[in-house]
Amino acid sequence: MKGIGVSAGMAYAKAYLVENDVKIEKYEIKDIAKELQKFSDAVEKAKKQIEGVKKEAAEDCGEENAEIFEFQILMLENEDFVKEIKNYVEGFKVNSEYALDQITDTWIKQFSQLDNVYLKERTIDVIDVSKRLKSILQGRAPKSIDEMTEESIIVADDLTPSQTIGLNRKKTKGLAIAHGGSTSHTAIIARALGIPCVVGIPDLLEQVRDGEPILIDGEKGEIFLSPTLHKIEEMKKYENKTRAEMEALMEFVKSASVTEDGFQVRLFANISSKIDADAMLECNGDGVGLFRTEFLYMEANEPPTEEKQLAVYEEVAKSMGDKPLIIRTMDVGGDKKIPYLNIGEEENPFLGFRAIRYCLENKELFKTQLAAILRSGAAEKNVKLMFPMISTLEELRKAKAILQEVKEELEARQVPFNRDMEVGMMIETPAAAMMAEHFAMEADFLSIGTNDLVQYVFAADRMNARVSYLNSYFHPLLFRLVNHVRESAGKYGKTVEICGQAAEIPYLVPLWIAMGINTLSVSPSSILRLRRLICGSSRGELQEVLAKVLAFDHAFEVENYLKKVFRD
Ligand code: PEP
Ligand code: MG
Repeated sequence: MKGIGVSAGMAYAKAYLVENDVKIEKYEIKDIAKELQKFSDAVEKAKKQIEGVKKEAAEDCGEENAEIFEFQILMLENEDFVKEIKNYVEGFKVNSEYALDQITDTWIKQFSQLDNVYLKERTIDVIDVSKRLKSILQGRAPKSIDEMTEESIIVADDLTPSQTIGLNRKKTKGLAIAHGGSTSHTAIIARALGIPCVVGIPDLLEQVRDGEPILIDGEKGEIFLSPTLHKIEEMKKYENKTRAEMEALMEFVKSASVTEDGFQVRLFANISSKIDADAMLECNGDGVGLFRTEFLYMEANEPPTEEKQLAVYEEVAKSMGDKPLIIRTMDVGGDKKIPYLNIGEEENPFLGFRAIRYCLENKELFKTQLAAILRSGAAEKNVKLMFPMISTLEELRKAKAILQEVKEELEARQVPFNRDMEVGMMIETPAAAMMAEHFAMEADFLSIGTNDLVQYVFAADRMNARVSYLNSYFHPLLFRLVNHVRESAGKYGKTVEICGQAAEIPYLVPLWIAMGINTLSVSPSSILRLRRLICGSSRGELQEVLAKVLAFDHAFEVENYLKKVFRD
């Protein structure tokens, strides 16, 4: 099967099927008594399963931690809950999975809006119980990633943000995902963890059987079901080659990223946790160009408090010494859905209530984060702040005005913070790119997010594999826009970094160097490879290549040309 390779590497293991996206059909029921009995049996079965999971959890991680399953058991024992569903089946003469879906949807909404923190946190349990019951009613085996006992390749429609974050690195050999593109949250995390990943195969779950041996090639985007011995041999050779290459790359840990003619590039990392920051430090990266903080919001059932965020930011900042740490305020929405934020279903989430748009409307939540970031810079002067998804000057000004309010409040609270923290913004919309000069006057630095910029320029959803041919990083328009942003920023002496995926595509890096962009923020696992590339380049010689690329009209011309010039 052919999909999109989004995290390089090969893996061979048994498929572990995870079905998150269970479709619920509505149909009429004639024999109501039988349907009600079916539901009662499912409740009993679910209870037994959860008791089993609880027992195992108690053995593995202690009685106390196993208590988290108690709520789920109580929920299944709750007569009101069971009755409500049965009444729905009787009243509307519909199948019990449909009734369950309708009732739990209401419960989920009600729970997520509660003030009581404990109960609010139980939203996730309501979702879990509902999922388990639906699987039983539909006669499928319920599976969760936590129950994966052996090394496997996870096969799923997509992973929820919390599943992605909780991935077991040792057991997860690879990811095969039906939906999404190269910059979905799953792809971003897979790259950061160095787990091979292929996305964008719509009928994946119909093709792969649970437990079947599969081989995935995260570079070419290929999946082989029950692969031949020849293919497995090929993978072993690849593994040996990669190991040898990694050893060779270690030579570059101590070098600076400087071209042969003396142009110095700062190789920053994109991170979403302290673990990623450590990976950056291990290869002596120059800092963090993008801390995706929304993952902090995704791994919990409620927004992290100011103190919790402060602890995380401070810990990362401290570990980095003098190296810059650019913390981006939360970019929620789009494919990063967080149930408790109540963004709701949208027709076009990537064109909707996302990132700064959400933050400006949810001021208190935004202010909590801004306070934590400002405070994390009190002792660690390397911390900078960055706003995502700015499209108009008004948005930037509003965000800065709120930041000013937070500074005054911190002053009043008499807590230390960095009053002079640099404030940058991301250039991710065509509007921001075209108006870069105005933004360069008011922001301290600009960071080009090519993942979003490309999707908005070509109006092609970055999660939709069918339009991924439009999301090409080789289109000459991208280079013209980046060059325009760089020139605009240069007029006001502001730095420009590139932090989307295009920053780490080896064929494109020579172009960024030729343009004079000296800061690239990339997955930690790409740093050494890019450093080797930079050390072997000469900026002077690349000018001609850039001139030629800027004159092309089509993505395929650029791609063919760059591959011809730089093929190794
Ligand atoms: C981008 O859009 O290029 C970017 C770096 O941000 P994210 O991928 O988190 O949307
Ligand atoms: Mg973005």
